Amino acid sequence: MGKQHILAIPYPAQGHVIPLLELSQRLVAQSFKVTFVNTEFNHKRVVNALSDQDNLANQIHLVSIPDGMEPSEDRNNLVRLTEGILKVMPGKLEELIRKINRSDDKKITCVIADQSMGWALEVAKKMIIRGAAFSPPSAAMLASAFSIPELINDGIINSYGTPVGNQMIQLSPNMPLIGGSNLVWACMGELTEQKFIFEFMVRNNKVMEVADWIICNSSDKLEPGAFALFTNLLPIGPLLARHRLGKPAGCFWPEDSTCLEWLDQQPTHSVIYVAYGSFTVFDKIQFQELALGLELTGRPFLWVVRPDLTHESNDAYPMGFRERVATHGRLVGWAPQQEVLSHPSVACFLSHCGWNSTMEGLSNGIPFLCWPYFADQFLNESYICDTWKIGLRFNRDESGIVRKGEIKDKVEHLLNDKTFRERALDLKEVAAESVNEGGCSHNNFNKLIEWMKTEKSCSNHRQA
Ligand code: UDP
Repeated sequence: MGKQHILAIPYPAQGHVIPLLELSQRLVAQSFKVTFVNTEFNHKRVVNALSDQDNLANQIHLVSIPDGMEPSEDRNNLVRLTEGILKVMPGKLEELIRKINRSDDKKITCVIADQSMGWALEVAKKMIIRGAAFSPPSAAMLASAFSIPELINDGIINSYGTPVGNQMIQLSPNMPLIGGSNLVWACMGELTEQKFIFEFMVRNNKVMEVADWIICNSSDKLEPGAFALFTNLLPIGPLLARHRLGKPAGCFWPEDSTCLEWLDQQPTHSVIYVAYGSFTVFDKIQFQELALGLELTGRPFLWVVRPDLTHESNDAYPMGFRERVATHGRLVGWAPQQEVLSHPSVACFLSHCGWNSTMEGLSNGIPFLCWPYFADQFLNESYICDTWKIGLRFNRDESGIVRKGEIKDKVEHLLNDKTFRERALDLKEVAAESVNEGGCSHNNFNKLIEWMKTEKSCSNHRQA
């Protein structure tokens, strides 16, 4: 049997590119050839952020197609981004596949598309190529999207996705209990954005019917309720680079790995690691309050201050802050997060609760302080604080600000109560068992590989 050629296409956002590249690297280790299709905008960022030691480009064929936006447009505007994608990318992807199939001795045998890029599976189907969807967020998030018809029927949301009334929602036992306003599409900004994203999700749900598999970066031991509710989801995670003895790839910003040496000098379980993923933006008041809160804890901290974490320039810091914390506070633009979280000096993770960050903290047995920003992060906060009980959430004051005293209090509460770390260490074991030899995620991954290795085109494994 010849080498199979997989085309992988992520949704163009940081939290989607990293886990699909992780999966792609595992496919390469299984002798698949992988072509990874970023948008032109993200391709440049990924390539520019690669360090000299990275040999990603030797393992994976990194290519790009346009995203339908002007170079200077804001890619954090998800409505504009999604409009651009839908307008331009299907045609460009088809062209790319035709070109590869004409010139490469290995034709594309399977497309793995991000679950939010369902249109790519339609392109694959049209070209008689098999397709699988890959979902980077939690299975609970996907379950809420797939439950939209029932939520409308039950009068919990209207036909535009807007929650009706204040009732709490639990899709099944063992799943987080959330308010309607915490449903993913209801946390996507203004009403027009919410409606757009909701309609996009409804359309995408339909497209999933053409997917041979819907692969999730999760484990059925972590989300038993969601996987019991939708048995067509295939958990293969959590996918972490260290399980394959490698480094994560696909960062949009260059990593500052000097913070690892700094961590080496800190006492065990002493450092607060603070990182808000790739999207979160703070106004100046909240940014300063966070800085002062970290200072007030008097503990060592490692804080990722992305170049665009505020709309201000660096002088958004409170006056004299950097000088005062110089002895025990480390500020970096982008950290090697997976390595940081596995470092013995880290005490807790102050996080925006993106699913990747959630899985990375959990897989290292780290307790959380939750500060969600948008989308599915409130749902993930609920898993962390209410279901798994490995973290605490922050209270906001009447103007919606998390104050410095609240930050200090919650840090003290979390670190003084050893049961948070104990439960986090138990969950670390659960996650490890899933992905280790013989574990459920491990077995599912092997099942997927077997399917991909068969020479068939465009069949449906459920009917095979
Ligand atoms: N990340 C990183 N360095 C940082 C901050 C984040 O490598 O300083 C990585 C993190 O390990 C995770 C991804 O960026 O894999 C962020 O994904 P997540 O789902 O947590 O959040 P999003 O960026 O999608 O909001």
